[in-house]
Amino acid sequence: MRNVDYHLHSYFSADSEENPRNQVLEAIKYGLEEICFTEHHEFHFPGLSFNLDVSAYFDEIQSLQKEFEGKIKIKKGLEIGLDSRFKEEIDLFVNEHDFDFVIGSIHEIDDIEVYEDTNYYKNKSKITAHREYFEHLLECIDTFKCFDSLGHLDYVARYGPYQDKLIDYDKFEGIIHQIIKKLVENGKGIEVNTRLFQFPKAQIFYQYLLTEYAMADGKIVTLGTDNHKADRTLDRIQEAQHLIQSAGFSEISTFSQRILDK
Ligand SMILES: [Zn+2]
Ligand SMILES: [Zn+2]
Repeated sequence: MRNVDYHLHSYFSADSEENPRNQVLEAIKYGLEEICFTEHHEFHFPGLSFNLDVSAYFDEIQSLQKEFEGKIKIKKGLEIGLDSRFKEEIDLFVNEHDFDFVIGSIHEIDDIEVYEDTNYYKNKSKITAHREYFEHLLECIDTFKCFDSLGHLDYVARYGPYQDKLIDYDKFEGIIHQIIKKLVENGKGIEVNTRLFQFPKAQIFYQYLLTEYAMADGKIVTLGTDNHKADRTLDRIQEAQHLIQSAGFSEISTFSQRILDK
């Protein structure tokens, strides 16, 4: 299986201060053969401006590609925040730039960030908070065709104020089935995001998602750490590869100019 990381950030994302060159050096040190930067861009994000300077970003990637040629493949990707209020702007932004790969993600709903200590979780039971996130995902997958792989389906499990923040998948089988079905119908991939992989329960959730996705005849599985810092000591890429393989997928998907690599 390919040793890749298709979800990482640098100082081109508003929530990272990492130099992209450090990300490359650390990826080489850990034996990765290919990485794809997936910098944030969001239209109207509460409290922070996730405005990607695409031309500076592309220049930087080009120079890194030149410097590290033969050592590691470096791709220029995007993590676009899906928000139906900005459908036209988002489609235009994604299509007018020459990205290799695009993750579609949800980080806010109606201007409320799905994050620690925000109103998103306020006065909500865990089951309601999780269900609303999935309902919103389903709507967005229906609305947007401009991305290649759906980012961190378990994002809502990261920041809740609950003792056990993780997703009890058996309570959401219906809606998750619909999400997976819609992704496959639309030819979209699913991301295995290793951010919560230190918790066995989070891995079990992905095992469930991958099995559902395989059963629905889905073909595109991407893998990413979502690292905002270069440090890879907590990487769980091998565990994710194992999970992907045991769900019946023989390879991890990679992209060039939005086309699936062979
Ligand atoms: Zn994200
Ligand atoms: Zn990310």
